[in-house]
Amino acid sequence: MNPVGKPGKTGSLMPVEEALARLLQMAEATPILEREYLPLAQVDGRVLAQDLVSTLDLPPWPNSAMDGYALNLADWTGEPMPVSQKVFAGQSPEPLKPGTCARIFTGAPVPAGADCVEMQENAEILADGSVKFIEPMSIGQNIRPQGQETTPGELILPAGTRLGPIEQGLAASLGCAGLTVVRKVRVAVLSTGDELVEPGQALGPGQIYNSNRVLLCSWLQRLGCEVVDAGILPDDLSRTRQRLGELQDVDLILSTGGVSVGEADFLGIALREEGELTLWKLAIKPGKPLTFGHFRNVPVIGLPGNPASTLVTFALLTRPYLLRRQGVQAVEPLKFRVPAGFDWPQAGNRREYLRGRLEQGRATIYRNQSSGVLRSAAWADGLVEVMEGRTLVVGEDVMFIPLSDLLD
Ligand code: AMP
Ligand code: MG
Repeated sequence: MNPVGKPGKTGSLMPVEEALARLLQMAEATPILEREYLPLAQVDGRVLAQDLVSTLDLPPWPNSAMDGYALNLADWTGEPMPVSQKVFAGQSPEPLKPGTCARIFTGAPVPAGADCVEMQENAEILADGSVKFIEPMSIGQNIRPQGQETTPGELILPAGTRLGPIEQGLAASLGCAGLTVVRKVRVAVLSTGDELVEPGQALGPGQIYNSNRVLLCSWLQRLGCEVVDAGILPDDLSRTRQRLGELQDVDLILSTGGVSVGEADFLGIALREEGELTLWKLAIKPGKPLTFGHFRNVPVIGLPGNPASTLVTFALLTRPYLLRRQGVQAVEPLKFRVPAGFDWPQAGNRREYLRGRLEQGRATIYRNQSSGVLRSAAWADGLVEVMEGRTLVVGEDVMFIPLSDLLD
């Protein structure tokens, strides 16, 4: 590991994969172990703490996939068949009378003795009420067998699954009224910088509005975290020490700013004094300087302050860290190959995450990729990954990471 040191003095840049692997390792060393049982409607965005195992056959009995007629294929001679019963969803049918068929509707249990459902479009109803089937039929057609989706004892969702509307629906189909989930990760968000003021206040000379705070607080909430908004921290050592000391009941302190300039790096000094400080220079653009360490016993991640750097390092490094602390295994974002809609003539020594969009199946990039320009990300619907040392001409493949996947 690249030990304690000032940013700018370290030698080679750490590859993104290595930084991610180390962060995940550290996340695994301090897993969130507490769990809580919640009503099913409240588990959206949370992480399952126990395997969800089926206690049912789904469907519980063979049912019809169509509106039509159930019959025993061996009884079918080609002659019209009388209808002996009518079965709606929610009803319990009689066994099928030999030589007859049953009128049946989608989702209704198939009567015992029937082994085939013909859709009503292929049936002709005669004047005497009997039904003539006009197409060839086969055993099992249009019948959803008992236990087709699941049988008792089957693992449906492993512990560590992130829950959303689909998993909630699936758990409901198995009769679960609630699920045991991992306690929310408590994250304190700190914005460092003498220049920062909150929106709503007048800007003084040299001041800018704090955009990272609300960006991170909202994003963390989407990730199922409990946010402790720790406000703005001035560039001052004793205030830094004091504020960090007040945040000892959180699972992570997430700060922005103060990592790119050694001079105002009070976070770094405080960590070095009362914890541990590791400074990484990552082969990533934007977002090269990243601080990781702890203050007393609380892990601290210090993201670079430029808004686009904050965004990229949060999305690609902090998000997976937070998910892994909750026991999620699949922390890598969705990524796919698309043709570039732009030229990239100058190879860089860092992996670039350009704010881009898909237009007619090609990745295009925002005109200004400065790390201070958050507007680039608002325009974008994804990050375009250009590897270290890579040049591109229009039409060559690049990887595209949709922001929609990163944001939740
Ligand atoms: P720093 O890492 O503190 O040197 O900050 C790098 C750049 O990001 C500077 O231009 C800061 O003014 C800006 N910056 C830092 N924190 C924030 C923030 N919370 N919101 C908006 N810009 C910020
Ligand atoms: Mg600063």
